[in-house]
Amino acid sequence: MTRRRWIAERWDEATATLVGAQAEHLARVLRAQPGMEADVVAGGRVFHAQVAAVSLAGSESEVRFNLAAELDADPALPVTLVLSVYKFDRMEWAIEKATELGVAAIAPVIARRTEKHLAQAALKRAERWRRIAHEASQQARRSDVPLIHDPLPLIEYARVASNSTRIVLAEQERTTTLRCAVEEAAAAAEKEMPSLEIAIGPEGGWAPNEESLFDANGWRAVSLGPRIVRAETAAIAALAVIAACLE
Ligand code: SAM
Repeated sequence: MTRRRWIAERWDEATATLVGAQAEHLARVLRAQPGMEADVVAGGRVFHAQVAAVSLAGSESEVRFNLAAELDADPALPVTLVLSVYKFDRMEWAIEKATELGVAAIAPVIARRTEKHLAQAALKRAERWRRIAHEASQQARRSDVPLIHDPLPLIEYARVASNSTRIVLAEQERTTTLRCAVEEAAAAAEKEMPSLEIAIGPEGGWAPNEESLFDANGWRAVSLGPRIVRAETAAIAALAVIAACLE
C-alpha cells in the first residue's frame, strides 16, 4: 500500500512537523499515533518517516515526525506560469491542475482586461491560492509546493529582467508553436533543463499594448493551435506540451 505523503511546514535535519489544519486532520480524523509511517516532504526532499509525537489542539495541532531514509524526489517542471488574474473559481482550478502537472511557480498578473474587482481582491486571495497549491501538491505526491508569487501588474512583471526563456501564449499567433519554442530552448540549454516563463492572458485576451510590451521585452509569441481555448485549458495544454518535450 502506498504510504501517505505529507508536506511539512517546519523541519530540521532529523525531524519534520505538520502544523494547523493538516496536523489536526492527521491527529483527529486519521488518529495518528507514534510509530505510524508516512512519506514526509521537508524542504523539497522526501523522507520515509515515523510519527514521534501528536498534539491535538484545534488550529494549534502539531504532528512531529522522525525522518528516516531519504527517498527519490521528482523535480518540478522548470516552468513559471505567468497567469493573468481572471474569474477566481476558474483560475483556482487552473492553479490546482498546474500544480498536479508539476509547475514550479505561478506568478499572478493583473492584465489590462482583468476585471477591476478581481484585480482589487487578488492580493488578499493569494493566501488561498497558496493553500490550493499546497493541497494539490500533497494529493499529487509532489516533493515540493509551487511558489505562488504576490500578484503584480503585468506591465511591471513583463519588464523584470529574467534569465528564463519568456514565452507568451498569443491566440492570434499562427507561425510559431509552443512545442517549437520549447524544443529550441531545450537545445540552447544543452545538458541543462531550460527555465521557462509562460504567460497566459485573461478571458478577454491580451490588449494590443500588452502584445507590444511582450515584444519589446523579449517575450516570444507562440500558438497552441487554431482553436481558441479558455485560459485554464491553455495552462494545462501548455504544461502538457512542455512535459512531453522535457521529461
Ligand atoms: N481573446 C480570446 C478570444 O479571441 O476569444 C480569448 C482569450 S483566451 C480565453 C485566454 C488566453 O488563453 C489567451 O490570452 C492566450 O494566452 C491563451 N490562448 C487561448 N487559445 C490560444 C491559442 N490557440 N494559442 C495561444 N494561446 C491561446
